[in-house]
Amino acid sequence: MQVLKFGGTSVANAQNITLVKNIVSDTKSDKIVVVVSAFGGVTDTLLNASLLASKQDAAYKPMVKELEDRHLSTVKSLININVQSAVLSKVKSELNTLETLLEGAFLIGEITPQLSDKIVSYGELLSSYIICEYFKQEQLDAIHADSRALIITNNVNGKATVNFDLTNANCNTFINKASQKVIVAPGFIASSEKGNATTLGRGGSDYTAAIIAAAIDAEILQIWTDVSGMYTANPKWVKQAKAIPHISYEEAMELSHFGAKVLYPPTIQPVLAKGISIEIKNTFQPADQGTSITKNSTSQGKTVRGISHIANTALLSLEGPGMVGIPGISKRFFEVLSQSDISVVLITQASSEHSICVGISADDLDKAVTMVNSAFEYEIERGKIKPAIAEKRLAIIALVGDRMKSHQGLSGKMFSTLGKNNVNIRAIAQGASERNISAVIKEEDVKKALNALHEQFFEENIKQLNLFVMGVGNVGSKFLNQIHQQKKYLKEKLKLNIRVIGLSNSRTMFFDEDGISLKDWEEQLQSGQTADKHKFFETVNQLNYRNSIFVDNTASAEVSKTYNAYLGNSISVVTCNKIACSSVFSNYQELKELARTFNAPFLFETNVGAGLPIIDTLKHLMASGDKILKIQAVLSGSLNFVFNTFNDKVTFHDVVKEAQEQGYTEPDPKIDLSGVDVMRKILILARESGSLLEIEDIENHSFLPQESLATDNNGDFFASLVRNEPHFQQLYKDAIDNGSKLKYVAQFEEGKASVGLRQIPKGHDFYTLEGSDNIVLFYTERYPDQPMIIKGAGAGADVTASGIFADIIRIGNF
Ligand code: ADP
Ligand code: ASP
Ligand code: MG
Repeated sequence: MQVLKFGGTSVANAQNITLVKNIVSDTKSDKIVVVVSAFGGVTDTLLNASLLASKQDAAYKPMVKELEDRHLSTVKSLININVQSAVLSKVKSELNTLETLLEGAFLIGEITPQLSDKIVSYGELLSSYIICEYFKQEQLDAIHADSRALIITNNVNGKATVNFDLTNANCNTFINKASQKVIVAPGFIASSEKGNATTLGRGGSDYTAAIIAAAIDAEILQIWTDVSGMYTANPKWVKQAKAIPHISYEEAMELSHFGAKVLYPPTIQPVLAKGISIEIKNTFQPADQGTSITKNSTSQGKTVRGISHIANTALLSLEGPGMVGIPGISKRFFEVLSQSDISVVLITQASSEHSICVGISADDLDKAVTMVNSAFEYEIERGKIKPAIAEKRLAIIALVGDRMKSHQGLSGKMFSTLGKNNVNIRAIAQGASERNISAVIKEEDVKKALNALHEQFFEENIKQLNLFVMGVGNVGSKFLNQIHQQKKYLKEKLKLNIRVIGLSNSRTMFFDEDGISLKDWEEQLQSGQTADKHKFFETVNQLNYRNSIFVDNTASAEVSKTYNAYLGNSISVVTCNKIACSSVFSNYQELKELARTFNAPFLFETNVGAGLPIIDTLKHLMASGDKILKIQAVLSGSLNFVFNTFNDKVTFHDVVKEAQEQGYTEPDPKIDLSGVDVMRKILILARESGSLLEIEDIENHSFLPQESLATDNNGDFFASLVRNEPHFQQLYKDAIDNGSKLKYVAQFEEGKASVGLRQIPKGHDFYTLEGSDNIVLFYTERYPDQPMIIKGAGAGADVTASGIFADIIRIGNF
């Protein structure tokens, strides 16, 4: 004997019901009990209609009509035309009774729990009848069983308690007597000893099937649903979740208790007692292995087997000085809740002599507050206890696994993962069985928390980085191309899965939660909404992804002012924009502080020397206890290009123009030529070495004539270069006469920094610097005479983009 249960989606329409029939036909067993849910969504519709009718709102009527159409059309699709009329008329007559019941509720403006159960039972009654008639037509030897006559409960409506003695006897008698091979029974519905309609609670068809399986000692209970088993996390929330092939009763019970809806929690108990195994299978992918639930699981070395969550949770606490030393307060507290039919999902560790704190369903919160306050009225009036404190919009998230108790450090890992992702934990509890660790968090953080924990415990170290990129000019577009090309490599070799979720230029911005396709991002961006830096941040923050990184590829001061918002919300920032780090020291310091406090890396390697690892090296030197004595550097790829190209055969103007066209200068070349760009860079290096320098403290020996410095647009600037050609030629001639080359040098020593054009003699480290290369000499306590030298291409969109990329990978390994 086997029991097969098919859920709402599996029987949602005629097409799906044909799949159900195929599965039943393929089942090899002498007797098969098929338990079915109402057609998907019907229970919800019936409950909504009842509620509206009880409020005397006629809007329930079209709902009844919709139910009627749906059931009749399913019959028409499934049942041959020549025998259709009998089935149609039976269904129609049931629907008429349903309509009469709802009309009654509408007329008196009230609905009792008993009437509600009666109304809602029509969902399963109709589905089971139609399915059984269809089975018979398809030559399955089938009979309909009315679960209301088999499953007997107490008289509580909504979620009744089963009388197993009567129920087991009824099931045995009926099933043993039935000569048919297939018995089709409605799930969820039952009746009290007096014969009134009752139900087993939402999702209760699973339970019906388990009760029957246990009663008749079935070999197996199969739960056929719309996913291929019990997953490591709800697959609707966590895309990377995988079906768990094998799990123990206790683990499954714990996961379903903490919200894994795929199995209604009471389902396990009856079959566990009989040692009947449960298989969870997918009606739409019947060949998939699914999940087998048995006494012992094979965990394949995994300690955490699944992660689940319960939404719509509230915390209720009672506290006050009067609670200390007075026995029986918690007993009374729990009694009030239980008498009010409020189930306590979690008791937190915050419970102490001064306070008790429990997690309950948010739906019960108002009732709970009223009941608790009235039960403790005497103490509250006398100030011994404070009125109950309620907190809503919370969720419980739980890690589950049999072997968790023998492993240290799991909760540490859980909480540090949540902490890193800025998920605030309101309360913590560990089950006495040590089979779960649960935490109460904000409802809005659930998706991020589930995904972050899933990544930590199940994804074999694959880490997903979610990028939000602003600026798609020269550097930005190269950067996107590089990610596109490297995606596969990063995933395979570095276990990093990089997705660009948001993109913006100065005109438009675009988001795609599944990751923007990097093949045609330009078109997608064009189709986006109007760009807005603040809205961009709001969206990133609201999406609330784990490992979110904001990437700034602009040179905009306004954009740099938004970094604090990102970092303050634990969103990392990677930038090639120098403005933030070279503005006032207090701003640089604030950003660094935020990064530390909120555990969000703030990386700007490309601010100095494009892709060269200059800042990273400096950081490592400092972190390992070295001290910077002196920094000497040529840090302007642009100026190096200009002075390496300039001679007496070309004009200074033409050389600068070429540098600009090749992308070696900032969009405004004066920033490079005036030395401001180099000042910013040496300032950043000085700060990273521990100095509190401001930009005004840096000496700038500019080589530009005053008139060029005074211009305020590119046109005037270039014109001034033409007029001052003799000045530039003289600089060149002086250097050549001395056997030297011109280099723009930055220096930092003993707390002082300066920048300026210098004549570099042959033999000096800087003399042979080619093209747009950069060079940095670090003189430190460990490298006092022979400096540590970093040298290489220090400008250009490609190397800058790869420097940003490197920062992102650093975060990935963080
Ligand atoms: P049925 O109507 O077949 O009873 P349910 O909707 O009650 O189906 O349960 C199946 C759903 O449970 C899945 O579609 C999935 O969204 C949800 N679910 C939640 N947690 C899990 C989990 N850990 N594994 C599988 N499914 C889960
Ligand atoms: N139809 C009921 C519900 O939606 C029972 C079930 O499907 O398990 O809750
Ligand atoms: Mg279900």
